[in-house]
Amino acid sequence: MSQKTAIYPGSFDPVTKGHLNIIERAAKSFDRLVVCVMRNGSKTPMFTAQERVSMLREVTAHIPNVVVDDSDRMLAEYAKTIGGSVVIKGLRAVSDFDHEFQMALMNHKLNPNLDTMFLMAEHQFMYLSSSAVKELGRYGADLRDFLPEIIIPAFEKRMKEQLGG
Ligand code: ADP
Repeated sequence: MSQKTAIYPGSFDPVTKGHLNIIERAAKSFDRLVVCVMRNGSKTPMFTAQERVSMLREVTAHIPNVVVDDSDRMLAEYAKTIGGSVVIKGLRAVSDFDHEFQMALMNHKLNPNLDTMFLMAEHQFMYLSSSAVKELGRYGADLRDFLPEIIIPAFEKRMKEQLGG
């Protein structure tokens, strides 16, 4: 029987509890879930791709069928190389929908074997994004509700360096 592989792509800069919640839920439905740090984003990231991969590996170490990778290729192409047939996306507010719908259609056109499946964000993570965490981090806010505990020291250290202190 063939293995069913799903891909969960994102920038994960850094991985939040919202991302981790999607990973834990999606991993239950597939034989293998490949979490892929996409390196083709336009913004300058807070963490290098390698750092983001390491953080993702740490916070997913307890889920045996999760693999972490990174790529600078188009998602539709990347999926072919790893034998992935499903893309997982988390949906927060309605505002995510338009953009995600467009990307899902585009990916399906580029790779007809690739389908996108959406998981609704849990209500407590509905307003959580990596950029909001970075904004809060600048003011020294308590991030324990938002970031996996294990990555908070690295986050605080990098934030301090970037603020020049
Ligand atoms: P962000 O910088 O907005 O956190 P990413 O590119 O790292 O975005 O997100 C990757 C995927 O995870 C996207 O499908 C995004 O919609 C989803 N996602 C991000 N945050 C959450 C959350 N709090 N709950 C559910 N899904 C989320």
